[in-house]
Amino acid sequence: MNWDEFAHWGKYISDWAADYHKTLGDRPVRAQTQPGEIGALLPTTPPESGEAMDTIMADFERIVMPGITHWQHPRFFAYFPANAAPPSMLAEMLVTTIAAQCMLWQTSPAATEIEQVMIDWLRAALGLPTHYTGVIQDSASSATLSAVLTMRERATGFSGNADGLNNKGNLRIYCSDQVHSSIDRACWVAGIGQANLVKIPTKGDRHSIDDIALRQAIAADRAEGHIPAGIIGITGGTGIGASDNLGPLLQVAKDEDLYTHLDAAWAGSAMICPEFRNDFWADVGRFDSIVFNPHKWLGAQFDCSVQFLADPTAQLNTLKIEPEYLKTSGDAVTNFSEWTIPLGRRFRALKIWFLIRSYGLEGLRQRIRNHVAWANELCESIRAIDGFEIVTDPILSLFSFRCPGSDADQQRLVDALNDDGRIYLTQGSFQGRKIIRFSVGQFDTTREDVMMAADVIQDVWKRIS
Ligand code: PLP
Repeated sequence: MNWDEFAHWGKYISDWAADYHKTLGDRPVRAQTQPGEIGALLPTTPPESGEAMDTIMADFERIVMPGITHWQHPRFFAYFPANAAPPSMLAEMLVTTIAAQCMLWQTSPAATEIEQVMIDWLRAALGLPTHYTGVIQDSASSATLSAVLTMRERATGFSGNADGLNNKGNLRIYCSDQVHSSIDRACWVAGIGQANLVKIPTKGDRHSIDDIALRQAIAADRAEGHIPAGIIGITGGTGIGASDNLGPLLQVAKDEDLYTHLDAAWAGSAMICPEFRNDFWADVGRFDSIVFNPHKWLGAQFDCSVQFLADPTAQLNTLKIEPEYLKTSGDAVTNFSEWTIPLGRRFRALKIWFLIRSYGLEGLRQRIRNHVAWANELCESIRAIDGFEIVTDPILSLFSFRCPGSDADQQRLVDALNDDGRIYLTQGSFQGRKIIRFSVGQFDTTREDVMMAADVIQDVWKRIS
């Protein structure tokens, strides 16, 4: 492909993208294909000769598009959103064009310096204290793994990397029973082990970690010779939005001298609205590490996960490695690959810069406020449906419900709704029962899109019950 052809197809694809988004609401939200159907449409061997771009593009429409679940659909209410606001998509196009590898300051000074400023902007936007610095990672899972590795190294006098974990004793990490599975996985990968991830029951309306049980668990572990290494808090758990009461958790960490990490992957974005901070983020400024995903609710295209660090030294002591070929001369600079597990890194800060400049914080706040208000309104409509039960009330814009009947009936309703295609929902579990989650957060959703869900749910339920 020469650059003139590239320019032609670049224009074609940006027109295609705008049309796709303008007509997205007419498509079924979840892909309606069966397993294996798309793969079977591809040749089993690669072509020996090049093919024309219009043939490739036609196949994209014919083969790929039917197999896409539309995450940017205004009636996507499953999981948590993975938004891609248009200015962030444009930034990604530029990043793709430049295709810089931003592992060191020297390999793209603008990427490092804009990343530093975006961390400052986001810190201020979220109301965090000025001592936080940070780094942009690909996902919350990576940030959490970095924090768990740091807990491990700190608890072993920074000797685990050098010596391995033999004879280090049982390191223990504590969290509530509402955390995301990325915490379990981080403990597996860090060599802590599932058996040493201690999950504490929750209490109260927000399903917050029971700090008294937490304190008791740590004391019991110490008495048995285990080595407490860290505590992981949650603001906005995946299942039902569980959010820890941060002050008491942090007090336990302080008394026990434990490193702390907060997973606010989803709900962190809502903290750009000052009115939510008192309830959810009082005392947040005492965490050692905090992760939130602008690629979820804020609108930055996937992938974009911000890890704030009160002091990066412990994480750098855990992850920094400097072979000869990565050394650069000159003044002291920040090389962000030393803060994370992968060496290579994309220029992720640009989409945050475009996003915030294009909407302003007030534009982004208004969306989140609307989502929270509409989730509350819809929750009341579903509560009013005969036989339906609200299992957990809205925490920000996430609530859960059940239709009449057994766990199997909940799954039957979810599957029927997703086959219907007008909305997309997913199931979860809470206190041993299957629940249906409803999460509002798609960037372009309207009140009408959200409220329509009550009619669709009743309609489909009547059809299958
Ligand atoms: N933490 C929470 C609360 C989540 O809901 C999720 C994913 O939905 C994650 C962590 C993992 O996020 P990521 O896909 O960025 O690793």
